[in-house]
Amino acid sequence: MKRRIIYIVLSFILLISLAGCMSDENDKNSETKPIITTTLFPQYDFTNIIVGDKFEVVLLLPPGVEAHSYELSPKDMKTLLSSDIFIYTGEAMEPWVSNILETLEKEDIYVLDLSENIKLESFNYPSHDDLDHEDSQYDPHYWTDPMNAKIMVDEILKAVVSIDKNNEEYYNQNANKLKDDLDRLDEDIKRVVNNSESNTIISGGHFALGYFANRYGLEYISPYEGFSPNAEPSAQAIAKIMKIVKETGAKAIFYEELIDPKIAKTISEQTGIEMLELNAAHNVSKEQLETGIHYVDIMYKNLDNLKKGLGYHE
Ligand SMILES: [Zn+2]
Repeated sequence: MKRRIIYIVLSFILLISLAGCMSDENDKNSETKPIITTTLFPQYDFTNIIVGDKFEVVLLLPPGVEAHSYELSPKDMKTLLSSDIFIYTGEAMEPWVSNILETLEKEDIYVLDLSENIKLESFNYPSHDDLDHEDSQYDPHYWTDPMNAKIMVDEILKAVVSIDKNNEEYYNQNANKLKDDLDRLDEDIKRVVNNSESNTIISGGHFALGYFANRYGLEYISPYEGFSPNAEPSAQAIAKIMKIVKETGAKAIFYEELIDPKIAKTISEQTGIEMLELNAAHNVSKEQLETGIHYVDIMYKNLDNLKKGLGYHE
């Protein structure tokens, strides 16, 4: 009996000292901000721009990690459960979300599926029957179309305002400024495409800019089918691309971000054409994250590369 009392007293002391530590932590952060957790870089970036310093915005993907191979870790699940809002791309990009939706709803977390108001297309799946999810027949990269990005901004704005109505005006202003930037980007892309010799993007990687190409009337060729980062293209597919490069006099071979561009490198070495990055902005490197790069910056860098690769004339 005595021992038990001692145990209880000790536990109590431990609890008090723990609580002490915790309040110290809180003091350091002055006030605890509500958390918005996002899956991919585009929604992380848009959310950050809209909320300014009023929320803490978390990107689940560690910097530099290839998005399609991401798996939810217990640590990330903990982060998710402490969030006020969870923003994801959709079933095709993050099939794991369906397994935790019920749990998130029970915790009263505002769950936003950004694909809900987007017209999804099935680019890049010409002959795949081996798909696990029916929904994954959709090309998940809709954010590469800046006009879809504007729809995402509106959806994020709605979610944020529903949690913090007091700062609605501030969020509206930030969102409007971002949408103006996206409109300007759209105009600039149109101008470049309309004043270029070629309208065909020759890619040595998984081609994730189907929505982008579709909006601006660009054609694209890739040796890959689908988006699995582990799938290898066939030798015939690579040979076919080399033939097209020679026949069309293409100026550049494009490669994707954050993956070893070995196919583009082979094609570049064998044909002598330049290698240029076409970044689909799934995720960014640690360096880019630290310098505060934005989706719009990535798209302008792509536009510079497209100017070179497609033969742009002022
Ligand atoms: Zn992708």
